[in-house]
Amino acid sequence: MNVHLTFDIEVWCNGWTNLDSEFASCYPRYVYGHSKHGDYALPKTLEILNRHGLRGVFFVEPLFSARFGARYLEQIVRLIDDAGQEVQLHLHPEWTDEINPSIISNVSSKRQHLTYYSLEEQTALIHHAKTLLENALGKPVSAFRAGSYAINEDTFLALATNGIAIDSSINRCYDISAPDLVCEHGATAPFAINGVITYPVTVFRDGFGRERPAQIGACGFGEMRQALESAREKGCGDFVIVSHNFEMLKPGRMDPDFVVVRRFERLCRFLAENLNAMPVNSFTGQASAALSIGRDHLPQTGMSSTAWRLAEQVARRMLG
Ligand SMILES: [Zn+2]
Repeated sequence: MNVHLTFDIEVWCNGWTNLDSEFASCYPRYVYGHSKHGDYALPKTLEILNRHGLRGVFFVEPLFSARFGARYLEQIVRLIDDAGQEVQLHLHPEWTDEINPSIISNVSSKRQHLTYYSLEEQTALIHHAKTLLENALGKPVSAFRAGSYAINEDTFLALATNGIAIDSSINRCYDISAPDLVCEHGATAPFAINGVITYPVTVFRDGFGRERPAQIGACGFGEMRQALESAREKGCGDFVIVSHNFEMLKPGRMDPDFVVVRRFERLCRFLAENLNAMPVNSFTGQASAALSIGRDHLPQTGMSSTAWRLAEQVARRMLG
């Protein structure tokens, strides 16, 4: 079973008013996360991965730089590329109406999700974002993840038109994420659509029977380990884990959240020790031979690991 460790890299400005003044303090938080303990945004993420000899896929959101300047995007991709990690394309079209000159003609209102745009508009947005990212990186990108997992059949056509053959946008825990395709394909294994291979984010059934995406900040380490082992036992070919550049930081702050730091460290150690059974890979664009597993056969975790995660959440809230 191939494991794909993926990170969505994005910068936000505490809402959409005072964008330029907020950016000055938000950019260093989201990219570096300086604190007396270390830089727990991108630098620490890269350091932990490299210390364990693991290769991640970093989906970087470039549209923000059309507002603030290419040098900010260049700093992000330099950090990732210089660390020997992989840069791919992420896109949050919320930025579309904040950019001058406009990429598309209709920017009369803010439209959050890519699925709110026509095929023509999606094609133009992906083209523009891909060009920004490739100019900053100095080499081509080949894989994509939509912001908020919002994707539809048009998005796959737009990706194919832009020469992107690999996607990892579908997350069946989100209603906005290709509900028709989830219904048709189950979205528990990679499948091909409109000339693109899509690797859905892995979803498992937690100890209380609820579906949960394999996200580092939202799952205990015990749950993640059990979900990985369960997926392998069920014959899954790919296991896609998600995180973000800011997931090891406390919400709205620079300090690290050591609960999440510990989870990530333990996950990386576990993966490094199990590389033979579960190699950590980039996306290859080859649909895995493993068949999609049925909805009732999602990877499953035990009750105690889920109870432990809930206890951790209560502790995090109390300790702030
Ligand atoms: Zn995102």
